[in-house]
Amino acid sequence: MKPNYIAGAWTEGPHASRNINPSDTRDLVGEYAQADAAQADLAIAAATAAFPAWSLSTPQQRFDILDAVGTEILARRAELGDLLAREEGKTLPEAIGEVVRAGNIFKFFAGEALRPGGESLPSVRPGVGVEVTREAIGVVGLITPWNFPIAIPAWKIAPALAWGNCVVFKPADLVPGSAWALAEILSRSGLPAGVFNLVMGRGSVVGEKLLNDPRVAAISFTGSVGTGQKVAAACVSRMAKFQLEMGGKNPMVVLDDADLNVAVNAAVNSGFFSTGQRCTASSRLIVTEGIHDRFIAAMVEKMKALKIDDARKAGTDIGPVVDASQLGQDTDYIGIAKAEGGQLLQGGERLERNADGAPGFYLTPALITGTTAEMRINREEVFGPVVSVIRARDYEEALHLANDTPFGLSAGIATTSLKHATHFKRHSQAGMVMVNLPTAGVDYHVPFGGRKGSSYGPREQGRHAAEFYTTVKTAYTQA
Ligand code: NAD
Repeated sequence: MKPNYIAGAWTEGPHASRNINPSDTRDLVGEYAQADAAQADLAIAAATAAFPAWSLSTPQQRFDILDAVGTEILARRAELGDLLAREEGKTLPEAIGEVVRAGNIFKFFAGEALRPGGESLPSVRPGVGVEVTREAIGVVGLITPWNFPIAIPAWKIAPALAWGNCVVFKPADLVPGSAWALAEILSRSGLPAGVFNLVMGRGSVVGEKLLNDPRVAAISFTGSVGTGQKVAAACVSRMAKFQLEMGGKNPMVVLDDADLNVAVNAAVNSGFFSTGQRCTASSRLIVTEGIHDRFIAAMVEKMKALKIDDARKAGTDIGPVVDASQLGQDTDYIGIAKAEGGQLLQGGERLERNADGAPGFYLTPALITGTTAEMRINREEVFGPVVSVIRARDYEEALHLANDTPFGLSAGIATTSLKHATHFKRHSQAGMVMVNLPTAGVDYHVPFGGRKGSSYGPREQGRHAAEFYTTVKTAYTQA
């Protein structure tokens, strides 16, 4: 059993969880410890004890540690990418790309440790000076989802440590392997005992302990809307700081004047790559009348050529769905869309086995046409390779439809019109907007996050992450 990492020591759990490869369910990736509330308590105590010294550590010390962690992740990209693809099911190139992103994130925040910023300015009163500085907030609880098993942990852990916070990290149950590998690297990085703790375990046990413990100053959560609401309620009740990144129902608008290849490539990439299991996936295609039929025909042709197979096999375009429960959700939504009047034009077929005969959670990417904005398929997140199409009269109606959603994470438009691209960037009600690019696939050095039901609180990534992981102090001095 791979143990938890608590107070600088590897600690067996009272229970274990089995990590199964979704490309071949006969393959056991490993067994991982599952902590109980008492172990989560020990981790919180260790982080609390380590905070006073760590919050006063030098920027050089934090830079050196984070930079070395980033270097090791980048050097081991092939091995860590293979582990990630094996436990989560995204293809090997996608998994290696995610590992590289995680390494780059550590290096970015290593640099940020040296640039905390601050202001020095005169008071409005004579003879008084004012300084505005940033300080660490304390022990932070980091709760992550299964779909980005190393990048999301990296973009929470790295800024937390860079600005002097102590961490209790609870990864998703389905993907403990990447989390454990990252913790193992951090355990050898020179961090003092208790500064970083890995507590694998159930959300209802370890997660809730973090939410409700008064020693945990802040919670950074990425996951579903339902769990996010629980996080918010618990944090508000005890006045803890919190940040939520949740679901999406991201639109991609395709206008009559779009370059057909650009539009199809962006739609196939952001709808189906990573098996559609990205919060930024474009699951609603909003297509204007003049290009609708040509675009759909080109989509179908492209989709037929996609190879659905073992995530780690060369040439695979789309790996399996992560587990049986997510697969059930995907096929349920295809059924719901059909019952509501949508046409399943392509895909949506459950494949019990891959090309080599191995049993896995395979589903061919599904395209559902003839849908309307009020259908459930266009209002609720599926989180799988399922894309619906809404026909729009013109740009104005397409923009209205794009914004007609409870979510607001990412939005895209395919157009050759500068006028429409500029207008869309300004009027899209999403946190991230893409022109002639997939809605998924973002940089590691700029803010990530959304609006409306997708996100709550300060943005993650880039310099803006300081808003969450630090608190501002204003100090006055009479000269
Ligand atoms: P989830 O909400 O089921 O779980 C997320 C995490 O919360 C897990 O670690 C889980 O163990 C934990 N958890 C569950 N119950 C808890 C509780 N009562 N208290 C505390 N913690 C608890 O989400 P998931 O299925 O792992 O991930 C998929 C979801 O994540 C999708 O909705 C997707 O859109 C979203 N997501 C969002 C972003 C983003 O940045 N907006 C990125 C990736 C994924």
